[in-house]
Amino acid sequence: MYCRNCGKEIDNNLAQCPYCNTPVSQNQIVVEDNGSMWWGVLGCCVPIAGLVLYIVWKDTKPQSGKKAGIGALIGFVLSVLIPILFYIFMIVLAIATYEL
Ligand SMILES: [Zn+2]
Repeated sequence: MYCRNCGKEIDNNLAQCPYCNTPVSQNQIVVEDNGSMWWGVLGCCVPIAGLVLYIVWKDTKPQSGKKAGIGALIGFVLSVLIPILFYIFMIVLAIATYEL
């Protein structure tokens, strides 16, 4: 890779640039953290995946991790609410049918 400070080519294994002593950690490519809404959609569809992404990314990619986490929460709430609402609907339907 190349030193971000002086631009000279340096060994990947070195802890700092031998020419200007800039720590190599400053040369690391910044991780893409665009906080895309698609992570939220993914989290909503697959709450477990969203939760895992949130845990993995909460330090390195907080924006994307947050989206995935919120998506996972929405997906989880919906996965609980929809069967309950369906169950209530079936009970109401059963009572209505019985009373006819
Ligand atoms: Zn350098």
